[in-house]
Amino acid sequence: MQIKNLKKTYNKKGTSPVFALRDLTFTLPERGLVFIVGRSGSGKSTLLNLLSGLDSADEGRILLGDTDLCKLSPSQLDAYRNSCCGFVFQEYDLIPELNVEDNIALALEMQGQKDSHDEVCSVLERVGLKGYEKRKVLEMSGGQKQRVAIARAIVKDPKIVFADEPTGSLDRATGEDIFLLLKELSKDRLVIVVSHDTDSAQKYGDRVIELEDGRIIRDSSPCDTKVSRSPLPAQWKRSKLPLKTAIKIGCSNFKYHPIRMIATIVLAVIAFSLLGFAINASFIDPTSVTADALLKNDPPYFILKKVNAVDDPNFTADKFFGDSGKIEEATTITKADIDALRSNYPSKIYPVKEIFVNAVQLSIVADADQLNKAYELMPDVYFATTINGFIALSEEDIYKLGYSMKGRLPLNADEIAIEETLVDSFKIAGLREDGKIYPITNSEDVIGHKIDVGVLGNIPHVANLKTVTGIIDTGCSLSEREQNHYFTKVSAYENCAKFHEKVYVTENFFDEWDLCICESTKNKKSMTAFVSSVFDQMKEEEYFKLQHDSIDGLYGMIPSIVVYRHLFAYVAIIVFIIAFVFLVNFVATSMRSQTEQIGILSALGADFKQLVKIYLCGALILGLAIFALSVIGTAVSATVFDYSIIKMYGNQLHMISFDPIMLVILCSMIAFTVVLGTILPILRIRKYSPVEKINLGRIK
Ligand code: ADP
Repeated sequence: MQIKNLKKTYNKKGTSPVFALRDLTFTLPERGLVFIVGRSGSGKSTLLNLLSGLDSADEGRILLGDTDLCKLSPSQLDAYRNSCCGFVFQEYDLIPELNVEDNIALALEMQGQKDSHDEVCSVLERVGLKGYEKRKVLEMSGGQKQRVAIARAIVKDPKIVFADEPTGSLDRATGEDIFLLLKELSKDRLVIVVSHDTDSAQKYGDRVIELEDGRIIRDSSPCDTKVSRSPLPAQWKRSKLPLKTAIKIGCSNFKYHPIRMIATIVLAVIAFSLLGFAINASFIDPTSVTADALLKNDPPYFILKKVNAVDDPNFTADKFFGDSGKIEEATTITKADIDALRSNYPSKIYPVKEIFVNAVQLSIVADADQLNKAYELMPDVYFATTINGFIALSEEDIYKLGYSMKGRLPLNADEIAIEETLVDSFKIAGLREDGKIYPITNSEDVIGHKIDVGVLGNIPHVANLKTVTGIIDTGCSLSEREQNHYFTKVSAYENCAKFHEKVYVTENFFDEWDLCICESTKNKKSMTAFVSSVFDQMKEEEYFKLQHDSIDGLYGMIPSIVVYRHLFAYVAIIVFIIAFVFLVNFVATSMRSQTEQIGILSALGADFKQLVKIYLCGALILGLAIFALSVIGTAVSATVFDYSIIKMYGNQLHMISFDPIMLVILCSMIAFTVVLGTILPILRIRKYSPVEKINLGRIK
């Protein structure tokens, strides 16, 4: 190694420049123990740092064969240290997270070597620490630590070992042992030792160079032998680090601030769970929520009613919180409405007129006593003496609904069909028509008679007589009612009960109807499209509204969902910013406290990429933990929210679905945060040389 006109000056703002090295020229042999001595501040460490590529010179040349170290880029210097140099520092600079074996193996791993156990054992034997492989470095004495450092320096068989005050922290006897060991090692390599201990230098050194004020004032045996060719930079290996080691060192980063780490994780998890919840909430889609609730429902019917929304003259509420300021008034459904609904929907739609048809009593009640007796005889049996409305059914519908029929369905507005339940009353009391009473023995006996389907109330009553053409058995006839109570049977049908106690008529019986019974479809796409088309109409003055137990309370919620969706989105952004700042700050602080370790790793030859890998691994694992906990937090909050709504309204509206997009957003945001928290501090200290990094880390 030839050193020519080497100069290094430290310029610090506000102070006069310090000439640490002034024009040094000398040559170092390929092997032997060379001591650099001198008083404190004479420039020894500066010289060592320049020779080992830990720092860069201002002027001059350091020739290794044909290669001038002063002309190399920082990453080439990293490769030079990785391939050619071993280091022994005064403070040992071992990595406390790794045990003895791993500390030593690190030097080999950085060169891409995987299995290094045998080499580590043999080098430990060489430094007198056989059997210490699994020891934690923190549990060792100073002398032992320095031996581990020496083992780490020589395990990769470097051409040069640099030792900066290697005995500075050791007692005299231990120091002597270390010098002996270095002397031994210098038989087949160059060992350069910086020391202020001139006695030991004289005793062990093959050559002693003394510095004073940045100049060589003595050199015990100057040599100017031509230095043989050293390996070219192209053969120097760039550092590589196995993922396992990177994770181990990276994760150890956070343990220095355990309380702060727990607080940060808790805060980040709360914030990101809230963010996840807010993202989920901002995805709430009333259409699919409604469609899902209806699809899940069995038996599969829901009701459509039409309303007319008019401005509420007394409206004072705040529109922001969802009140539309309208009053909804029920309105009738026309034939055209029904046609339009049917064109949008693949399943059956039955028009219904809800009128209390009590005039039918006039046709039944031939003898009230007879009916009363029947009630007494069969107290558990229900007899219909009124009807609650009209429904338009086709023959196909009757069989689809599982009903059976005697006679036929009405063909025009003068004809009707009635339910077997009503016929039972005629069987007991007889049927009155035109003042005459006809006994009814079989259901068919009613067919052909006219019965009154008007509303009693007007005086005098005007009869609305229609001819019965058919009797429909809906499964609630007398024979069945004896076994199954009518109401139990009917209530078991839930919405299906809407088909009972009706007069069955043709669709042209009325021009306008009150509601539609819609058969649910099992087809999600059709149901969603239908619900969506119903909701779309809500912008207009007249629109349909869906009714079903499973979606109770829905219409009260829709306006607030729209408002809260936006609100949640804003909350999410604010919360994310808070979580972001905390997390970046935590990762960055942890990183800063590791500046010294970063310096040690770069001194060992780890280049920028390896440093990023190490610290990114740690940060990503932290991020992964936060992500996993936040996903759980989001799921819990979403479920609690979901079930409280379901409990509150007794419906089936699962408002929040666990959207995979939420996972992607959450994951990217956490990753972005931790990556930024890692990269920023590394970038900040990137400009410093390894020595400066170590010093920066030690100053704190
Ligand atoms: P030694 O190792 O012999 O004690 P150094 O090489 O550490 O001496 O320092 C040589 C001179 O350079 C000293 O005056 C010291 O104060 C100065 N010096 C060393 N490092 C720096 C630095 N990073 N910034 C400014 N001055 C420095």
